[in-house]
Amino acid sequence: MAKIVVLGAGIAGHTAAAFLRKKLSRKHEVYVVAPNAWYQWIPSNIWVGVGRMKVDQVRFRLAPLYKRWGILFHQAKATAIYPEGVDGNNRAAVAIEYTDERSRGTTALLDYDFLVNATGPRLNFEATEGLGPGKNTVSVCSYDHAAHAWEQLQVALGKMKNGEKQRFVIGTGHPMATCQGAAFEYILNVAFEIRRRKLQHLAEITWITNEYELGDFGMGGAHIKRGGYITSTRVFAESFLNEYNIKWIKRSGVTKVEPGLIHYENLDGEQKTIAFDFSMLIPAFAGAGLKAFNNSGEEITAKIFAPNGLMKVDADYSAKPYEDWSVNDWPETYRNPIYPNIFAPGIAFAPPHAISKPMTNKNGMQIFPTPPRTGMPSGVMGKITALNIINLLKKGEHELKHRASMGRMGAACIVSAGFGMTKGAAATMTVFPIVPDFDKYPEYGRSLGYTMGEAGLAGHWLKWFMHYMFLHKAKGYPFWWLLPE
Ligand SMILES: Cc1cc2nc3c(=O)[nH]c(=O)nc-3n(C[C@H](O)[C@H](O)[C@H](O)COP(=O)(O)OP(=O)(O)OC[C@H]3O[C@@H](n4cnc5c(N)ncnc54)[C@H](O)[C@@H]3O)c2cc1C
Repeated sequence: MAKIVVLGAGIAGHTAAAFLRKKLSRKHEVYVVAPNAWYQWIPSNIWVGVGRMKVDQVRFRLAPLYKRWGILFHQAKATAIYPEGVDGNNRAAVAIEYTDERSRGTTALLDYDFLVNATGPRLNFEATEGLGPGKNTVSVCSYDHAAHAWEQLQVALGKMKNGEKQRFVIGTGHPMATCQGAAFEYILNVAFEIRRRKLQHLAEITWITNEYELGDFGMGGAHIKRGGYITSTRVFAESFLNEYNIKWIKRSGVTKVEPGLIHYENLDGEQKTIAFDFSMLIPAFAGAGLKAFNNSGEEITAKIFAPNGLMKVDADYSAKPYEDWSVNDWPETYRNPIYPNIFAPGIAFAPPHAISKPMTNKNGMQIFPTPPRTGMPSGVMGKITALNIINLLKKGEHELKHRASMGRMGAACIVSAGFGMTKGAAATMTVFPIVPDFDKYPEYGRSLGYTMGEAGLAGHWLKWFMHYMFLHKAKGYPFWWLLPE
């Protein structure tokens, strides 16, 4: 009998837990520890943030589903890992702190045979002074943030209806923030909603980004096949912003936000400000902040985690220069090299380095996006983690068979740019592989056969369909396992 503890019920953790429970016999126990009572389909938070979906359309309660599946659910957050045991007991364990109303604040230890750390990103608003909900900007990174963003957006739209001009600034809120795609999708949706209300003459909309060029998206940009022609994602992104009359500020890192005023520094070392009435900026991401201790009680956090709190896995962390980066630096199994019974799929794993070229200004400030980890790769990583653990248990395999490197995996991204069955629009993009491989594809680093982009209404339908398809899968409805990650 093995006990598998999955930390996190997001795309990676929920997928891992679902496959573990489906494929392992009941003599093995599967636990999920997550601080939120709800599963949320994060990509649709964009539509919550513009009032096109209600919070309950993008979330569902985890406890009833896990009960049905036979997964033991603890509504709690993990705080520390004891991979060699704790208090004289040599059984590996994880410390958790309950977050549900009845037991909030109480703590417990869960011992494990395998630990899946799928805790995703901690939204590190504190890394930028004055950033985030409750301070001076809004966010769409979780359903409650997105609902709050919609409240604030309605205030701005209301003022415009009364003839008042409004300034919108949307983009990245830290010099090394990632997730440009989500912010890009939000700005297009905000612009669409303004235009739909015929208020565009009262709006000044600005995209602010740490990308060197628009369309970098933290993956060093891409060349895509579009309508038979090869276009860069820079042209693709710029043409979208032009179409919506959105200005842009690139190569800039937001350093501080005051009420109505954003401070930023650019790659030329200039310190500037931009005023706003409504601003949604994506924060820096960090790890969940778990600590780790060995069996003597000494802290070993730095051995297992990178300085940003993300977990070290089977990647090459040797800090090589940009010119020497290789697709082989990227992890394939998400297994911790020191403790082979710990895995970290999804955003929880520490990437070996960026994908975009690192840039530093004359003041020593690094301004470039960190690598994106979108939903599809996170789901695939969650699934292969489950399959590898199953093989270890059932076949006693030492060599992990299932592999999913971001250097050998593609990603599909649909950036909606408006809502509605007849008036909606979206940019649909696929890239293969996510991390460019210049040995295999010397010209562009990616396969042009599989790296494509199109814009139009059909993309909106696809995004709409995917909302229902992925929630169908996450809710464990009939044949969920046949649907792709
Ligand atoms: C607004 C927005 C839109 C996006 N749109 C897209 C899109 O269109 N397409 C796409 O592919 N990707 C999109 N993404 C990215 C996608 O959401 C992520 O890639 C994906 O959610 C990552 O999965 P994950 O499981 O690693 O992390 P998450 O989904 O964030 O899950 C992390 C889980 O860990 C839990 N957790 C946190 N701390 C602890 C702790 N201490 N102990 C236990 N559990 C903990 C959390 O509660 C959560 O359940 C978007 C992201 C955002 C923010």
